[in-house]
Amino acid sequence: MKNDQPYGVLFESVKIGPVTTKNRFYQVPHCCGMGHLRPQAHAAMRSIKAQGGWGVVSTEETEIHPTSDLSPYAEQRIWDAKDIPALRLMTDAVHKHGALAAIELTHSGNHSANLYSRLPALSPVDQSIDIIYPKQARRMNKKDILEFRLWHRQAAINAKAAGFDIVYVYAGHGMSLAQQFMLPEINTRSDEYGGGIENRVRLTRELLEDTKEAIGDTCAVAFRFAVDELKGLDGMQFHEEGRAVVELLSETPDLWDVNVSDWSNDSQTSRFEINEGYQVPYIEFVKSLTTKPVVGVGRFTSPDLMTSLIKQQTIDLIGAARPSIADPYLPNKIKEGRVDEIRECIGCNICVSSDNFSVPIRCTQNPTMGEEWRRGWHPEKIKPRKTEQTALVVGAGPAGLECSMQLARRGYHVILSEAAIELGGRVLLESDLKGLSAWKRVVDNRVYEIQQKTNIEIYRESELTLSHINELGVNNVFIATGSSWRDDGVGRSQRKEIAGLETIQVLTPTDAIRKQSSLEGPIVIYDDDQGYLAGVIADHLSSQGHNVTFVTPASIVSPWTVSTLEQQRVQKSLLNQNVNIIPSKTISSANGDTLEMRCIYTNEATELACKTLILVTERLPNRTLYLQLLQEASLDSDTPKRHIELIGDALAPGLIADAVFSGHLAAENFETSKKEIERAMFMREMPKLK
Ligand code: ADP
Ligand code: SF4
Repeated sequence: MKNDQPYGVLFESVKIGPVTTKNRFYQVPHCCGMGHLRPQAHAAMRSIKAQGGWGVVSTEETEIHPTSDLSPYAEQRIWDAKDIPALRLMTDAVHKHGALAAIELTHSGNHSANLYSRLPALSPVDQSIDIIYPKQARRMNKKDILEFRLWHRQAAINAKAAGFDIVYVYAGHGMSLAQQFMLPEINTRSDEYGGGIENRVRLTRELLEDTKEAIGDTCAVAFRFAVDELKGLDGMQFHEEGRAVVELLSETPDLWDVNVSDWSNDSQTSRFEINEGYQVPYIEFVKSLTTKPVVGVGRFTSPDLMTSLIKQQTIDLIGAARPSIADPYLPNKIKEGRVDEIRECIGCNICVSSDNFSVPIRCTQNPTMGEEWRRGWHPEKIKPRKTEQTALVVGAGPAGLECSMQLARRGYHVILSEAAIELGGRVLLESDLKGLSAWKRVVDNRVYEIQQKTNIEIYRESELTLSHINELGVNNVFIATGSSWRDDGVGRSQRKEIAGLETIQVLTPTDAIRKQSSLEGPIVIYDDDQGYLAGVIADHLSSQGHNVTFVTPASIVSPWTVSTLEQQRVQKSLLNQNVNIIPSKTISSANGDTLEMRCIYTNEATELACKTLILVTERLPNRTLYLQLLQEASLDSDTPKRHIELIGDALAPGLIADAVFSGHLAAENFETSKKEIERAMFMREMPKLK
């Protein structure tokens, strides 16, 4: 692309110390639940980003020593030279597609619990470790600091040997020793590493200088630095010490990778921060203090915004973690003028949750993420059809849309039938709620592609019955009819129905959203799903002026959202909107205008006034049509053998990400022999036995 093209500036090369990136698309370090445990999966996933056009592709945080052991989390590891071959898989894979490979060297200080290595955790001061485990990190003395510098230096040398082009010093997310030394709230030392900011930055300066001296002849030394902790006066602020750090180190690194801390602030969800580029106000000062290139993040998916940030010299490189996960081909799509095809990140943090569960990364928008190696999936390509066939997909929620789109990509003729006027299923309902508007992108992206295709027919307002399906005479039927919320109170904590519900107005989430303007108070939301939806509905209704009481057997609101880094914001929002939160209680019965609640610990009964009870407990799969099809097939031996497959929430209700994945899996497996499916079920990385 030429520079005079609208987005040409994004494809200029940028010199970073001794190396040069071919364009301004920079996949910043991000966790992926693969790390040292799954090196082949890791290399394949990063390789896809390089194929998709990212100029720089980075690892996740990389432990440099057994005293920085993040087990059970699956992060990257470079404890010694034995880790080089596994890391080499990634650098080779990334280089093959013309990208630079970057590694984020990390010592996590008190953030690592060393549960595997059982060595003492290290910290600038004696303090508790960062996970709930009654153990403390030990204050580092001068000898420890010297040793730590040597470990870091050796890790940099090993990183160079593994083929990395850019080596990071890391001071961000509240997860690294270098940052912990910088923060006055933590570092109360009285030696030359504590006190004023010059002293607190000393260790970082030494790490940068050590790294440059060790490998700076051929590798660039990047510095990842959180300029603000968003804690106000209690933390580092960008206009005070954050700025001072940039002034003190301005020309020392070859690249500034700047963001805000902690992880929940850096990777904010769209529910609480809808704006793309939300970190710009914090980091834009950096460029005025250094001549070195600056990379910034903020869920960038719009090439117009990216271009204007480069042209205004706000940043030099477009940093992205989540946008590169949702669409590894984002740079190529911009380059090839296919901007409408960008699969925009929806800011849901399902990707983050997988790292928090130590399993390979997954993404709501991109079901192939994490499956590149073990299932051989690709975000843009899928194997061609085996034979000429027609497939009918019933239901156009996330599962039906993904399945139809992928079957059409494979070259089948697809008929997609949806009962409602609009395509999207549950996504339409949920994305209408407070904070979730970006989730609609799951539908928009797929509907856009489906509409471009000539081999897919869409029928709206077409609720199919068994006889309709028989009339159509299609032999391959994918049932994506979704699920319905229960209205009897059966949920995670109690498997029996709530007694007396006939005496009270009971609404499912779907009814409550539809009737939101005419709800009669007092309103009680009972969350025994403990996912996200009950919290969203409480937030939504209370923001519209409804008085809401939130009852849950859990001890906090929406416990699942801990894994998406949102829980504190969820609870804060409800408290700020005066939602009455009653934790640790089940609802045992209803009687007229009163509910009886039971303490989950003591079983003590208390009463609560209620006119409208919104039950968010469990869902029942909508399987009637599927069962009818099966029954017919079993009765009628003359009917040619049909492929009848249940997908998405109709198979087993879950996240939107699960429904998309299920639709993709079904499309991939269609016309594939049982043997092949079993073989591809997936490859596993086996430990080498010795
Ligand atoms: P999933 O998450 O599995 O995709 P959703 O509940 O989001 O499930 O979507 C299911 C979709 O299926 C809804 O849009 C619903 O209107 C549609 N649907 C359900 N039954 C039928 C049917 N018999 N014919 C056509 N569409 C249906
Ligand atoms: Fe974005 Fe959600 Fe995918 Fe993460 S999981 S990359 S937040 S769409």
